[in-house]
Amino acid sequence: MDTLIIGGGLSGLTVAHKLQQLCPGQQTLILEKSDRAGGVIWSHAENGFLAENGPHGFLDNCPESQLLLQETGLDRECVKAPLSKFVRYVCMNGALRCIPQSPPKIILAPLISPLAKLRVLAELFKKPLAGEPTVAQWVEHRFGPALLPYVDAVFTGTYAGDFNRLVIDGVMPGVRRLEMTHGSVLRGLFAKMKQARQDKTSTGGKKKGLPAMTSFPGGMGRLPERLAESRQAGRDILLNCGVLTIGKSQSGWVVESEQGSHEARNLVLALPINPSLDLLHTFAPRLPQSSVPEAKIVTIAMGFGPGSTLPPGFGYLAPEQEQRFCLGALFSSNMFPARAPRDHILLEALVGGRRHPERLDLDDATLIRHALQDLRQLLPLQGDPVYAKVLRPKGGIPQLEAGYPALLNWRDQLMQEHQGLFIHGFGWEGIGLNDMIKSATRVAESIKENSGAARDEAAVKGIYF
Ligand SMILES: Cc1cc2nc3c(=O)[nH]c(=O)nc-3n(C[C@H](O)[C@H](O)[C@H](O)COP(=O)(O)OP(=O)(O)OC[C@H]3O[C@@H](n4cnc5c(N)ncnc54)[C@H](O)[C@@H]3O)c2cc1C
Repeated sequence: MDTLIIGGGLSGLTVAHKLQQLCPGQQTLILEKSDRAGGVIWSHAENGFLAENGPHGFLDNCPESQLLLQETGLDRECVKAPLSKFVRYVCMNGALRCIPQSPPKIILAPLISPLAKLRVLAELFKKPLAGEPTVAQWVEHRFGPALLPYVDAVFTGTYAGDFNRLVIDGVMPGVRRLEMTHGSVLRGLFAKMKQARQDKTSTGGKKKGLPAMTSFPGGMGRLPERLAESRQAGRDILLNCGVLTIGKSQSGWVVESEQGSHEARNLVLALPINPSLDLLHTFAPRLPQSSVPEAKIVTIAMGFGPGSTLPPGFGYLAPEQEQRFCLGALFSSNMFPARAPRDHILLEALVGGRRHPERLDLDDATLIRHALQDLRQLLPLQGDPVYAKVLRPKGGIPQLEAGYPALLNWRDQLMQEHQGLFIHGFGWEGIGLNDMIKSATRVAESIKENSGAARDEAAVKGIYF
């Protein structure tokens, strides 16, 4: 065996796929604990409604993901919802407020007072904040308090997290680097924009528009399903094969699993942070921390018949200060075709998250009742839902909180010390599908080149509501 991959979620499947492309003669085996591949990606179709138990989509602005779609033929299947055509809302003072899709437009819109806008511009003169500030501390220091509810909504939508605990160096390392190198985020962004304009003039390139949210007619489950199609069960992927321990052997790595032991030259841990740490702690006992917090959510899918309508757009998010039951809701039947039967709508409400784990213990009927009560105050929903389903995702979302930057450095050092060891997956260098595909591609390239794993330079990512 050339490479053993632990974990058959998107991260592990993508490494296997890329290795097949880059090193066709090599033998690769995925060891997956559960009875199916795909990890937290799981679409749920029932009674003509199509909801998601995990991710709802990914943006088409990541070259590695676009290449993966082309290589698998999924680019011909995918469905897209361009951000330029779909607005989002933030719940403020008990009503939905439409949010423009880019930070400059947000600043120009009448969402905050003229004085607060001047305070945002004062960022140009604010000194970099030392240490490991939380997102809320950092935003308030740089831009003032007026943007806090909107930033809260962003991190509720992406991490189901608490921006008073997430650290800026963990969740936006690229922006933090701009702050450190240019002394101000705005100054750094202006420099980047100038550079991009120069590059475009010299290459004659076109201006990039806003990206589009991408999924598939049968839901996000199609992505791992397609990747798993080229893996033969029992030969290239072993299901129900949880890995118990990892260690070094003379020729590389040895792994003890529920189905016996396996050896290979390279070992890829394609796992969320916590299962990785569980395996690493016997092998590398000096862990800086034994686990990271996770935010779990439930998705409550609700279908309504004729008479109920949704506002145009993707959905809304509610910052904590609004004290609502739902973190927000996706207007699923607006986003992609065939999510609901004709003349029906589907919305998916999100509940729980880092701040309200106690809500996950509620039974299905109570969750639906509370969610409906909340949604009816914001949306024109008529009558009772014709369909209601509580989906409880398998995994939680790793929270990049205090100590995370040190954990990431420790991981990098471990990979440098141990030839052939690659640690990536949910929470290592990001939490989104694009992050996973990007780092999986880099792992496969490092294996091909027989070089050690290296972290990509932190990129500045757009913030899209
Ligand atoms: C509710 C939710 C909503 C999300 N929404 C979005 C979204 O809209 N857009 C977006 O871009 N991203 C979203 N994400 C994030 C995205 O789903 C993840 O980035 C991605 O799916 C992680 O893939 P992974 O393979 O790294 O991890 P996982 O999907 O967790 O897969 C890891 C696999 O490893 C297996 N495993 C664990 N331990 C062992 C062991 N000891 N031995 C063998 N196998 C093991 C597990 O069974 C699992 O199959 C969401 C995540 C969640 C949970």
